[in-house]
Amino acid sequence: MIDVTLIGTGGMLPLPDRWLTSMWLEYNGKACLVDCGEGTQIAINKHRLKLSKLDIILMTHVHADHISGLPGLLLSLGNCGKTDTLKIYGHKGISNTIRQLMCICPLLPFDVEICELQSDRGSEFVWNDINVSSLPLRHGIDCLGYSFVLNRKPIFAPEKARTLGVDVKLWRELHAGKSVTVAGETITPEMVTYGTRQPIKVTYMTDSRYFDGMISFAKNSDLLVSEGMYGDDEYIEKMNEKGHMVFSQSAKLAKASDSKALWLTHYSPALTRPSDYTESVRSIFSNTTVSSDGEYIKLK
Ligand SMILES: [Zn+2]
Ligand SMILES: [Zn+2]
Repeated sequence: MIDVTLIGTGGMLPLPDRWLTSMWLEYNGKACLVDCGEGTQIAINKHRLKLSKLDIILMTHVHADHISGLPGLLLSLGNCGKTDTLKIYGHKGISNTIRQLMCICPLLPFDVEICELQSDRGSEFVWNDINVSSLPLRHGIDCLGYSFVLNRKPIFAPEKARTLGVDVKLWRELHAGKSVTVAGETITPEMVTYGTRQPIKVTYMTDSRYFDGMISFAKNSDLLVSEGMYGDDEYIEKMNEKGHMVFSQSAKLAKASDSKALWLTHYSPALTRPSDYTESVRSIFSNTTVSSDGEYIKLK
């Protein structure tokens, strides 16, 4: 199970009732934070997420609304007792910006390891049994989208094992993916499970103008978190120039990528009532949520 919380939904600057866009993804007792703008640690607290679970941070890019909350968050992590290494991932060259921000939090009780991913092509790494991929976005400066894929083992079927006469002592071997022999017959793990399970996939993309490469990157997402600066299509051209998207573009992306659910986020401060566009955006992709801060889902 993966727990996903959208910590904030704003773009550019935090508002009294809207924190900046960032996502908290929790699995197996560990959490990953994507982006950390001004006030993100306050929003984490408000949504009752446990900072002590934070294991890695992924940065999309170095615009202030995505990274300027980092020093305060690192200090709070130190105050809540973190001593093991914190890994921060981002695009090529991001170390420089992060180290400069860390000038104001120099004495942390844990090490910070900065991992630079490719800025001109995708990268992959594994965190907490989850395959994480990055995709260079189109935002005028280096910017990465991220996807998280959890491949799941099939569920063990005890009654199948019993029917095949497999002694309980041998179940552990089958759990570990090994075949066993019963009365001269080979029993494979596939013979005692309920078949394959679909992976769980979460994709997070902001900030970027639309391009076709987003479709394959987001393909078959259980949850697509994607930006929408405005709900009105009249802003498409202007947003395209600025390296952003509007609601309908994200909805078309969700549909084209066969995603199961879409959460819109990263609203312009000028967009005071994003939910006004719920109906129109659902006419393109029905399972769209015009997200509010603290949007939460448990993916099973
Ligand atoms: Zn932004
Ligand atoms: Zn930006």
